[in-house]
Amino acid sequence: MLPASWPARTASVVYTCNVAALSDTITSAVASTIDRPNNFVATGNDCSLTVNAAPLRRRQRQQAVDPNAVPPPPQAAPLRRRRQQAVDRNSVPPSPVAVASGECVPPLFYADDQALLATTPAGLRFQLGYLESYCAAWGLTVNTKKTQVVVYTTGRAAATEERFRYGGNEVETVPTFRYLGVHLHCRQAFASAASYRAEAGRRAMHLLRRRLAENGLQDPLLSMRAFKSYVLSTLSYGAEIWAPQLILQGRTACERVQLEYLRGLLGLRDSTPALIVLAETGQLPLPAYWTLQVARFVSNLQAMGGERVARLAMLDSVALAADTDTGLPLARQPWAAQVSRVLAAAGAPCDLTADEGVAIPELAEALLERHVASYTHASVKVQRYIEDVWGGSISAEAYTPASFLCDVPERRRRVRLAQWRTGSHWMAEETGRWQRLDRTQRPCPHCQAPLEDVRHAVYDCPLYAGLREEYASRHLL
Ligand SMILES: [Zn+2]
Repeated sequence: MLPASWPARTASVVYTCNVAALSDTITSAVASTIDRPNNFVATGNDCSLTVNAAPLRRRQRQQAVDPNAVPPPPQAAPLRRRRQQAVDRNSVPPSPVAVASGECVPPLFYADDQALLATTPAGLRFQLGYLESYCAAWGLTVNTKKTQVVVYTTGRAAATEERFRYGGNEVETVPTFRYLGVHLHCRQAFASAASYRAEAGRRAMHLLRRRLAENGLQDPLLSMRAFKSYVLSTLSYGAEIWAPQLILQGRTACERVQLEYLRGLLGLRDSTPALIVLAETGQLPLPAYWTLQVARFVSNLQAMGGERVARLAMLDSVALAADTDTGLPLARQPWAAQVSRVLAAAGAPCDLTADEGVAIPELAEALLERHVASYTHASVKVQRYIEDVWGGSISAEAYTPASFLCDVPERRRRVRLAQWRTGSHWMAEETGRWQRLDRTQRPCPHCQAPLEDVRHAVYDCPLYAGLREEYASRHLL
């Protein structure tokens, strides 16, 4: 519902999209915010700035069936006159952004943010003029310092020589703008938003670590749950839009944040393979979480009614994907093409135009199976870890955090154990690897046994005989 009174100041973000191929991605991104709670798109059409009549008709239909619909304000009639005057005063065609079905994308409101989309500079000027007259009629002001224009171009084409003004002030044109937490760039693919999310996620990670330490919380399982709530959500914000390309292409800065946190939790060195870190903690890699996020988003869009802008934007992207050369680089593929490939690669191929959504529980199982299967072709070090710690094979049923994480409460001991289990130690087996020595050339410096590895230190090396006896007398006798 609309608030009782609109905020006195409203921030506005403005785009002009000169490149049709980018418009579907932009529309998808902006549309992704529509399905969030407290949005005013569905109920705020009486504040619509669009010049086509469709939104007004939609509002009238809505009022007919919705007793809670906001009644027209008392000054609506003069406002309509002023609107008409604004239309008359601006003879420039509005150039509204339309999806493939011909439906115009209405102005996108979210709290006090507003996005204006246009395909031509003239269209954007028209909308700015309309916004100005609307705000004048309602006593609203626009914070021009927070209002910026992003001009989408391709390749090395010059951004634009166009200048845009609002209320006598020039509106700044910028290459990057953060809209509802997602960074949009005038030339780069949507995946470029990931680096900004990684920065935000890293800050959240440091804050979480500090909070846990301040409160004396050392339980690793609690730490991982807290990471999912506070950091993973930051790293993955808007991922349904910007992540499909990255899911298909692999390692990202966001994944490094996740691994840095888990390695820190276990006390492992940075070079410990990601697969080992994930297996010890029973976690899935970020792309698996992002795939689920994409699938949920697609399912929500599929379940929407036919008139919702977000669904129309997805269908628009599907239509664009059908017309796009599949040989183009992934970054230049439409969002729908990337999503189809992500879901197919995860074992859940999906017709985006269908009504039934993706089966999420089955997809989650398939992602886990796929992750576990990736250990089969992993590096020699990972294979050795599977052999020594998992008894030779790893299964989806057993893929949970290692039991010592809750059985060993003292962090110092837990870290030592994790280091020995994962090969993050300083014995010759590991240091010899760095010097590229053959395994037969990594003897124990204390007793000259042919190989100094964890098994040798625990069971055989005479250097630790005292410790071994002490342990046996305490725990085994
Ligand atoms: Zn030895």
